[in-house]
Amino acid sequence: MRTANLSGRLVLIRDDGTAVDVEQASDGLFGADPQAVYSRWPEFHAWATDSDLPAGSPFDVRDLGAPVPAPRQVLAVGLNYRDHVVESGFALPDTLPPVFTKYISSLTGPVTEVRLPEGGHTDWEVELVAVIGKEAYRVAEDDAWLHVAGLTVGQDISERISQLAGPAPQFSLGKSYPGFAPTGPCLVTPDAFADPDDLELGCSLNGEEMQKGRTRDLIFSVPALVAKLSAVLPLLPGDVIFTGTPAGVGLGRSPQRRLADGDELVSYIEGVGELRQTFRA
Ligand code: ZN
Repeated sequence: MRTANLSGRLVLIRDDGTAVDVEQASDGLFGADPQAVYSRWPEFHAWATDSDLPAGSPFDVRDLGAPVPAPRQVLAVGLNYRDHVVESGFALPDTLPPVFTKYISSLTGPVTEVRLPEGGHTDWEVELVAVIGKEAYRVAEDDAWLHVAGLTVGQDISERISQLAGPAPQFSLGKSYPGFAPTGPCLVTPDAFADPDDLELGCSLNGEEMQKGRTRDLIFSVPALVAKLSAVLPLLPGDVIFTGTPAGVGLGRSPQRRLADGDELVSYIEGVGELRQTFRA
């Protein structure tokens, strides 16, 4: 099952790529708010799976918003692919990866124009994003997928100077400029993948491949992250987890690369879709 946020309304995306308005198709059983549905996700998933949906309407991807527009918590994980840890020059995490947030004002939909912070070194990080569909507190790894509503594509856009400044690095601010957390184009439920633990992800800059990896190479898988994070705090319905990026970020390349005025970044995950960001000085 695939859902999306189309002009601020919750829709189901049919196999033919058209959109069905949930509030209309459910006769008001479920509302139009794309965020509110996560608090009733198991009920919604059952209804959507069992219903004979009407024909959908075509739409423009530029009208898609964030699949999760107003989460209560955004958790983001760093250093979660071996090859990216190596290019970053850090030691491998053992029991817990670094965890930070992307403040929710940075969240957007999949097709956007992003303003580059003046004097900054802005970089890309394609990531698998998991969305919580059922409260998770002290959940075992084996049960973790049952708490995940679905997966989407995310870009953890990062301004490296502010990310690494100060006596202790403060990742969250440098990763939270407006537009620095594009997500989408849709949310895909775990049962829609042959193997939700093994998906190709990558990104290209002006058509040149920059990152390409597979989520089976995550040091802490989605279930492991749900277990580790929920051991500390409750993960709430509609919470968002950025799971980390594979190798190929601009900071880790030689020579180093950074985003510039006019650049177009396309990020994808197999079976989900793509994000498209244009950068402006
Ligand atoms: Zn990241």
